[in-house]
Amino acid sequence: MRRKVRTRIAPSPTGFLHLGTARTALFSWAFARHFGGEFILRIEDTDVARSTQQAVQQIIEAMRWLKLDYDEGPFYQMHRLERYRAVLAQMLDKGTAYHCYCQPDELAAMREAQRAKGDKPRYDGRWRPEPGKALPPVPQGLQPVVRFRNPPDGDVTWDDLVKGPITIGNRELDDLIIARADGTPTYNFCVVVDDLDMEISHVIRGDDHINNTPRQINILRALGAELPLYGHVPMILGPDGEKLSKRHGAVSVMDYEEAGYLPEALVNYLSRLGWSHGDDELFGRDRLVQWFDGEHLAKSPAQWDAAKLNWVNTQYLKAMPDDALAILVKTQLQRLGVEEVDERLPRICALFKDRCETTVALAQWAAAFYSDVSPPAAEVAQHVTPAVLPAIRLLSEKLSAASWDKASIYGAIKEVLAACGIKMPQLAMAVRVLVLGTSHSPSLDAVLQLCDRATVLKRLNDARV
Ligand code: GLU
Repeated sequence: MRRKVRTRIAPSPTGFLHLGTARTALFSWAFARHFGGEFILRIEDTDVARSTQQAVQQIIEAMRWLKLDYDEGPFYQMHRLERYRAVLAQMLDKGTAYHCYCQPDELAAMREAQRAKGDKPRYDGRWRPEPGKALPPVPQGLQPVVRFRNPPDGDVTWDDLVKGPITIGNRELDDLIIARADGTPTYNFCVVVDDLDMEISHVIRGDDHINNTPRQINILRALGAELPLYGHVPMILGPDGEKLSKRHGAVSVMDYEEAGYLPEALVNYLSRLGWSHGDDELFGRDRLVQWFDGEHLAKSPAQWDAAKLNWVNTQYLKAMPDDALAILVKTQLQRLGVEEVDERLPRICALFKDRCETTVALAQWAAAFYSDVSPPAAEVAQHVTPAVLPAIRLLSEKLSAASWDKASIYGAIKEVLAACGIKMPQLAMAVRVLVLGTSHSPSLDAVLQLCDRATVLKRLNDARV
């Protein structure tokens, strides 16, 4: 690396942290960590009408949840207005920017005339100073915008880390407004000044920003700055091939926390959207950092695959120590209205986690141990039949006297089966429906043992046909 690696994520706080932004943040973070560099959080809040403090909080919370730690920031663009003004003044002074007094109606007429001639609408440079050119008289009482003096000819070329060499002709770019008539700087200009001041070495961002890059490069050159390297990551698409959006389901990172995904699983899954390391699918953060060197980034868009995310999450759930899992499940139980849990929760997690895709699913199982169950009437009707009821009564009797360990409970069940002449599935399904509210579960003795005796007896004794 020719300079110290410094990357950034620069979200606009107009809403929650989107999965796409989270993936860009992850790539920028992993790249910085791989090269022992720094990762910076910058809040692009100059769109005052749409930016909110709440969105800033949500972004910071999501970054924390994903454990994307930043070395500097959050920096806020709205705190840097003085600096932008100083750079604008410097550019006006040097002649790399100029005042333009064109009014909106004038610009509209300009565009209209260009369209009528079959030309692409663009600013015609009427206020652009040129040697020997007479500029229009400055109108009284009007504030000018500031335009960047874009090079008139030649090309802008950069070797994109993801897409390879990209060339855009300067003729395609007109003189961009870099400050509005009220003096506020515009988006592309702030990004440039920030990337310069923050000594960003690599700009990794979504490819929806590709059109901004030649403009930003030209402004950086006008400022005599060393250029960062750019890498434009293709968008994440929904299953229908459209850009991933709310229409496809949850796109906010924290919605995934609520839905019971583990941050490690989401990080693992996101990292594979548009990047690969051979066939590796499951790997932790350390591996990602070790492998993520800016190579093997895909040129074509990645598709969101909810089923695959669920699979990844399942693997992480299974591998997670039960005590740690229980802490997360406790939070989900509270969201389900269950306030009190106890020392059984890690064992409940151990028993059910293999069949769960999320901590929410796990909490739904665990809820049966901490709150009332309401077995669905159809399941009751199907499994709690007159033929099984005597066995349920007898089991209740035997369990009231058995010692409360798995082997004794199993023994009691066996005795009931023998005495009543019915098969295990018949009894087990009925007991599960009564005790857990569903006919499928891990082995009955394990489930009953985790449930306390009083609860089991009450639920069995409540059985009616
Ligand atoms: N604020 C921009 C966004 O949220 C990011 C700009 C950049 O990465 O250069 O899309």
